[in-house]
Amino acid sequence: MHEMSLAEGIRQIVEDAGRAQGFGRVRTVVLEIGQLASVEPEALRFCFDVVMKDGIADGAALRIERVPGTGWCLQCAATVPIDALYDPCPRCGGYRVQASGGTGMRVKELEIE
Ligand SMILES: [Zn+2]
Repeated sequence: MHEMSLAEGIRQIVEDAGRAQGFGRVRTVVLEIGQLASVEPEALRFCFDVVMKDGIADGAALRIERVPGTGWCLQCAATVPIDALYDPCPRCGGYRVQASGGTGMRVKELEIE
């Protein structure tokens, strides 16, 4: 399950931020997940609780914000909204669409106590 290693990556970011900024407790972790990132939010939520144990974000809430997916259609020469990787262009129906936005995941914000 690759959500487990993603959760470990989040823990690393949170612990590093805690050390760098000198806070000891995180109440909420706000995470941005692109719609085209192959991340299962529910699986990640489960892994998050397990991985954060005994760290500064132990028991912290996880807030997930979805970022809509966008792609660049070669045929239209325009950015178009897409719901999934390899979806056809909603304008011309063509398949020459390259994912250009909403493909990643990042820690957006930490709420500390
Ligand atoms: Zn198009």
